[in-house]
Order: sequence, then structure tokens, then C-alpha cells
Amino acid sequence: MHALLVEDDDRMARALGTALAQRGHTVRRVGRALDALRHVHEAGFVLLDLGLPDLDGLELLRRLRAVCDAPLIVVTARCEERDIVQGLRAGADDYVVKPFRMAELMARIDTVRRRTEPRSGRAGADPGGAGGFDGRTVRTGDVEVDLAGRTVRVAGVDVRLTRREFDVLAFLAARPDEVHSREVILDRIWGDVFLAASRSLDVHVAGIRAKTGRSDLVRTVRGFGYQLGSPTAPAQGDGAR
Ligand code: CA
Repeated sequence: MHALLVEDDDRMARALGTALAQRGHTVRRVGRALDALRHVHEAGFVLLDLGLPDLDGLELLRRLRAVCDAPLIVVTARCEERDIVQGLRAGADDYVVKPFRMAELMARIDTVRRRTEPRSGRAGADPGGAGGFDGRTVRTGDVEVDLAGRTVRVAGVDVRLTRREFDVLAFLAARPDEVHSREVILDRIWGDVFLAASRSLDVHVAGIRAKTGRSDLVRTVRGFGYQLGSPTAPAQGDGAR
């Protein structure tokens, strides 16, 4: 896929360009906002540094979003919470703070690209795959998540989750084949990515696991986020409910 790399730092641009090329992407690197706007139409996805010499990065992000809906990841040294929130609000699909691990950035690119693929391209695909999805109900193991009815059944028995717990589970269940970063979950469900809410996310995941009795219903991807898991029922004979 063709990447537009907007980065004014030569060393950073070289490192990123090499890593992207190793993953099979072609790369156009630009160092100025004006050139980013000129070339964004050809991009399959965009990596955007916010600290550019000719225009504030958030302003550039808004202008890019006005003309292009390709997946866009902000890659920046700005780590203030308000910057991250503003970046996501302005239309970034994800946000990576420098210094970052290259493997993590590449994984986030793959995730964002999958998430932003047109749904029509995947409709009906892989009906026998993990996490069958008929548009309303997602099944994984013996767990059924009814997205429209907002109910969860485990082995045929209704389980009551709090509104937030259900929101988290439904978010993961709606895209069962993807790993979701903590920041994206926090932004979509809590409306911000503040650190205090970050602990709240862990609490809600623990609640989902405890109430469903399926500890592997939500899979932790260490240092990154969560994914819907393929739960197995606990061994029989431990006493019926
Ligand atoms: Ca910069």
C-alpha cells in the first residue's frame, strides 16, 4: 500500500521509511504541510507528525480530513492528553507518541487499515471463522453478544453487565478479528483518553470477565490494548450454577 509520511525530521523519516518499505509499502515522504496537502490524494494511509515548520499539525490534520478519508495515524512527540484528544477528535484513527517501538507502530497501522476498510469488502467473508457476525449477534465460544438488543448470553444464560461494561464488550465484539488500542477504546467509549479513565478500562474488563465467568472472553494484548477472545467453558464438574 502507498504511504504518505509527513515528517520534517530526516532521521525519523529514514527510520520510518525503511520500516514501511520492509513491510511492503511504498512511501512518499514530505516534510512540509503544503506538500502533504498536495500528495494526500494518492495515499493509502497517512503517518502525520504534528510538529511541522509551516503549519500547526492539528490544523493540517483537519485540512487533510476535509479532502481525504484514508487511515491516518498521528506520530508525534506531543504527549499531552489534550493533544491526543484533539488529534483523535480532529479525525486521526490512532495516535502514537515518540519515542515508540517500531513493531508497535506497524501493528497499529495494520489495525487501523483493517478497521477503516469498507465494510462491503468484508461482508459475508469467513462465515465459519472465529466470532461469527450476522450484523446483530456476535458469537464466540459459548458467548453470544446481541449488539442491537444489548444482551449477553453465556451458555444460553443471560448475564447482566453494566452499561459501560457492555459498551466495551460490544466495541470489541463488533470487530472480533482486530486488536484495539487502549486509546481508541477510551476515546470511543469514555470520550477521552485521560489516564484516570485508563484505569477504569481495566476495571471494566475485569468486570466483564468475572460476570461472564469467561476470563478469556477479552484478550489482553500487553502494552497495547484488547481483543475479543475465544472463550472456553470452565471444566465440567465444578458445580452447576
Ligand atoms: Ca517534527
